[in-house]
Amino acid sequence: MSWRCSAESNASLIDNMRDAGLVKSAAVEAAMRATDRGNYAPSGPYEDRPQRIGFSVTISAPHMHAHALEQLLPCLVEGATVLDVGCGSGYLCTCMAHLVGESGRVIGNDYVEGLTDLSTTNISKTDGALLESGRVQIVLGDGWQGHAACAPYDCIHVGAAAARVPAALVDQLKPGGRMIIPVGPQGGSQHLMRIDKDDGGNVTEHNLMGVRYVPLVEVSANASAGAGRSIFGLLGRK
Ligand code: SAH
Repeated sequence: MSWRCSAESNASLIDNMRDAGLVKSAAVEAAMRATDRGNYAPSGPYEDRPQRIGFSVTISAPHMHAHALEQLLPCLVEGATVLDVGCGSGYLCTCMAHLVGESGRVIGNDYVEGLTDLSTTNISKTDGALLESGRVQIVLGDGWQGHAACAPYDCIHVGAAAARVPAALVDQLKPGGRMIIPVGPQGGSQHLMRIDKDDGGNVTEHNLMGVRYVPLVEVSANASAGAGRSIFGLLGRK
């Protein structure tokens, strides 16, 4: 039913997702209203489907962004530290920055330099203050390794399907923290997983639903397959 949420403006897209029960909370609704998807998707930004953003990847569909934010909401509290692996368009970094407030921090990570540049450009259009204040930081790197410099994280969102749950990301999750990650082979059976770490450090996994995401590329494996050429050099262009 999600295609029915397509609209002509950001406000009506959010209205439709709220009416369809996809946007459930006032907090997620406010964050998505405050983040104009038109700044992040080059064409058809208010259609409820993924859109190409270059570099063979897509900005996820609005209903998937809504779902991820609702799932992460218990940990997207004022002052939280968040990691967005595979930030792509930068859209979710901005939504999550609105949720964690002035004392929070969102690290957006991507392994393609053209996409960290795209995130920065998109956020700068009308949300540049988030970058200037340091509430959002965009970093280039292999998401399989997380971003240890700002760990641990209250919340980790992964926007690409991993062949298995990356151990570094589980390590970098705070006790009491939550991660949302699609897991499964490229083009095969993938599941959106919710991974919770309790206050004692015990980890539990919940299978939320079947999904289809672009792969979380195994950068080091591909770099060595590429006879020593850097994966950044191979993929860092449009
Ligand atoms: N949440 C983003 C999703 C973009 S698509 C959005 O809605 O705009 C998935 C992203 O994962 C792409 O930007 C891709 O470059 C990135 N990605 C794939 N493998 C990665 C890796 N190993 N490390 C970091 N980012 C990766």
